[in-house]
Amino acid sequence: MSTTTASPSDPLAAELPRRDLDICVAGQWRRGRGDRYASIYPADGSISAELNAASADDTAEAIERAHQAFRTSGWASAKPHERARVLHRVAEGIRARREVLAQWQRRDNGKPIAETRALVDSAAGTFQFMAAACETLEDQLTPQRGAHLTMSVHEPMGVIGAITPWNSPIASEAQKMAPALAAGNAVVVKPAEITPLMALELARICDEAGVPKGMVSVLPGKGSVVGDLLVKHPLVKRISFTGGTTTGRRIAHVAADKMMSVALELGGKSPTMVLDDADLDHAVAGVLYGIFSSSGESCIAGSRLFVHKRLYAEFMDRLVAGAKALRVGDPVSERTQMGPLVSVAHRASVEGYVTRGLADGGRLLAGGFRPEGEGRERGCYYAPTVIEGLANHQSICQEEIFGPVLVALPFDDEDDLLAQANHSVYALAAGIWTRDYKRAWRIARAVQAGTVWINTYKQFSIATPFGGWRDSGLGREKGRLGILEYMEQKSLYWGLNDTPLPWAAA
Ligand code: NAD
Repeated sequence: MSTTTASPSDPLAAELPRRDLDICVAGQWRRGRGDRYASIYPADGSISAELNAASADDTAEAIERAHQAFRTSGWASAKPHERARVLHRVAEGIRARREVLAQWQRRDNGKPIAETRALVDSAAGTFQFMAAACETLEDQLTPQRGAHLTMSVHEPMGVIGAITPWNSPIASEAQKMAPALAAGNAVVVKPAEITPLMALELARICDEAGVPKGMVSVLPGKGSVVGDLLVKHPLVKRISFTGGTTTGRRIAHVAADKMMSVALELGGKSPTMVLDDADLDHAVAGVLYGIFSSSGESCIAGSRLFVHKRLYAEFMDRLVAGAKALRVGDPVSERTQMGPLVSVAHRASVEGYVTRGLADGGRLLAGGFRPEGEGRERGCYYAPTVIEGLANHQSICQEEIFGPVLVALPFDDEDDLLAQANHSVYALAAGIWTRDYKRAWRIARAVQAGTVWINTYKQFSIATPFGGWRDSGLGREKGRLGILEYMEQKSLYWGLNDTPLPWAAA
């Protein structure tokens, strides 16, 4: 466990010594019965909070009590506008605590404060949007084809398991909690072990806003203990998972055995494509932002760069100069563009990929080292790194690094570009930089990805569905109809016959 003390200039310094966190077991706040551990601030190794993880017993209890609350609390049967009113209060509760949540999110995983404020805003927006989706969701009267009226309606499912990774906690947790609750379900959240703070804060805000006790649980702890039981438990009716493809595939197997609905938001290795007519100012800025914001710890990071060969040398000169000029440092500072990586172990993994890429014949154009000075040697910093000279099939062009490492490849023409861009097990996102809208349309339709950005990158809207193809996942989050992913569909037939059915009458 870390012995480093937090910097006195940290805006949260005064609160840190008091942080001993309870977990939330179906509305009951108490000490977890699992192992004790610390949440470490990756910028300097100091402790943000200590807590006892949830145990398997805590998990089973949370699920059983959530099931009970689902049946008896009145949340599932509340009118949509009544649930919406509570969810709007959750959004307001998040907004009222914006700064403090953003600061805790910064300590949770080391993202710069400007980014964590945006994540908090996004979480509030998600609750607001799902409140509106809940209140305005319409069932259908389907076309009449006999002596009956036919309807399609939707029912809440019961207990939803929400499993999240460490890279954008408050936003990913809101993206699962808001639609699950809006649909009338109970939700048991399992945040990543190393980033427990935000989900616990959200549970407190839900409590204060009037979500009935028992409808929300937050169980920080190990995937192999809490996550595994959550997925396997018979009372859990759906899992919404965001994380790595290996974990997602394991969950999909269990879901198949249980015949359980599952959404899997998984990894990526997204191509970002610069055509020979691109606006270079926009393309350079967009490619830098697409890979290096969030220190590259982003599922949609544009981590494979394809540049038309005519433009390649000039573009790479500008891009490399831009990468070297990025401000990597203290997440507290408003000017910081890239904070540390999330942990010592994750930085070692990123470094391992870079070593492998160079051993395979790659040439380092920028980065490839740990920045020092201004206290950065205490944190898990890694410089923005650009590598060229590899072929698209080589391992670091294919495997998700989840860090600030960009591989650059030239292309000859549109056919070559699409063949290379689509050569990946992943298909999460893609970016296109061109002034020609017809080429943009052609490529956007031909590239295999759940989201394509044209002359922009890494922009999001809660109103627009999000998800991956192939090894990047199954199912969609967000969008007005995202709430339906958390409901069971049911068809109703209302008989209009004046006489008994002929067979029964016979
Ligand atoms: P991970 O798969 O290791 O862990 C994700 C979550 O699953 C954690 O809460 C973990 O404790 C839990 N978990 C681990 N084993 C489990 C098991 N056997 N059963 C149930 N739960 C288990 O991923 P990570 O390292 O935390 O996050 C990085 C990955 O997440 C990257 O691959 C990234 O691309 C992906 N990601 C995807 C999206 C998306 O929307 N597509 C968004 C963010 C991150």
